[in-house]
Amino acid sequence: MSLSQSDMNERLQDYGKRIESLAHSVGLDYYPVDFELVPNNFMNEVAIYGLPIRMPHWSFGVRYIHQLIRQSMGHSRIFEVMFPGNPCHGYLVNSNTLAENTLVTAHVLGHADFAKNNHLFARFAEMSGTNIVEHAAAQAHRIEQAVRDHGQQRVEALLDAALALEPHVDLDQELHRPLYPTHLKPAAPRGDEDSFTGRFRHLPGEIERAEASRERRTAPIPPHPESDLLWFIAHYGPELEDWERDVFLAVRYESFYFYPVFACNIMNEGWATYWHARLLREADFLPSDLYLDAVTCHSNVVRPFAGEQQAALAINPYHVGFSMWERIVEQQGLERAREIRRDEDDFGFIRNYLDAELAEKLGLFVFEAKSDEGIKVAGRDVNRIREAILAPKFNYGAPRIRVGEMKHDGTLVLVHDHEADGRGLDLERAARVVQYVHRAWRRPVLLQTVDSRGAPHELRSSAP
Ligand SMILES: [Zn+2]
Repeated sequence: MSLSQSDMNERLQDYGKRIESLAHSVGLDYYPVDFELVPNNFMNEVAIYGLPIRMPHWSFGVRYIHQLIRQSMGHSRIFEVMFPGNPCHGYLVNSNTLAENTLVTAHVLGHADFAKNNHLFARFAEMSGTNIVEHAAAQAHRIEQAVRDHGQQRVEALLDAALALEPHVDLDQELHRPLYPTHLKPAAPRGDEDSFTGRFRHLPGEIERAEASRERRTAPIPPHPESDLLWFIAHYGPELEDWERDVFLAVRYESFYFYPVFACNIMNEGWATYWHARLLREADFLPSDLYLDAVTCHSNVVRPFAGEQQAALAINPYHVGFSMWERIVEQQGLERAREIRRDEDDFGFIRNYLDAELAEKLGLFVFEAKSDEGIKVAGRDVNRIREAILAPKFNYGAPRIRVGEMKHDGTLVLVHDHEADGRGLDLERAARVVQYVHRAWRRPVLLQTVDSRGAPHELRSSAP
């Protein structure tokens, strides 16, 4: 059935309202959601810029975060874009069928409930505020101003540098954190009265001299290895201009904002899918042909394999998350499910609620890719499956690289913690990132790492 835009709009609004009252009656709890019907090219813009704001920039690399917010739902062809906040923003593509958009509406309400009630989302919303779209708009205007003042090329080059470091933030710290102390605190008086130095502490002139020299001691920067590279470069880049600092902090802000979406991907998509399935099932006001179309969409969303494949080499978070929530609700009740949705992120969710029986039922396995033998199943042990699912999620999916030192001539020393990562870096890509950092830092940049065989390497920026 094809509908005119105004018909679609009208019927969607009607179903939307009724689905919302159904959602309230079954206990979904969320901030208001602003739904907007948008043309398909709007979604492409979001795919390029990350936020639905025209930013004068084209990012050449694949931004991981983009894949998260602009993703087709499972193995369906429907795209969903939803920004948590107060209000939340949900976008529906006007080329979707009415059944598809009805499903997306119910799905977004599930996300809205998750975003309001999950602890990780709440912590990050408190830091980043709840008006991401307005925030991104203001940011885009500042960047446009920078383009007028400094030219497209300079702004793009700097944005590329900041985007290359996008996941390199310290999520244990606050979004707004103070600068390092500039001076070392004078050491507390030592209680070692019997020691040699203790006995001679009271020689005339000694104390004053010692304390004066202590006061003058400036603190090293950074005082400890620093993993928030965006923050560090924004504040300590020796020649960074204000607009450049702004760009780095804007990228950092988005990185914080999207972290819960990243860290709760399986739980959150599973939760939204559980709720769209349930709300549609209970929506007795939907015409039966529309309901059946929506059920077909749903089965594509939760299909474990793409296309004709017989096995999945990557998990479909909609499939795994949905199956896990269905079972949790069935075995432990909805109240317990709500507590789990409040307390966990994907790490706790997968480790505590994906058991051997369910992994087997879902056909999950760990595979190995060998260049000569192709792909081979390497195991069905549930612990290995859990860790394989979680491995790409540690540290925002990025290698652990920290600022180790800033030398007197301004050289920036970056250190890769290859032991924690369990492997070295792809040296070619790492060299490109070093060059990106150098663009903003403008003094030499060094990166210490190991190669794929574990041999130490030091990559050094070259003058542009
Ligand atoms: Zn979703």
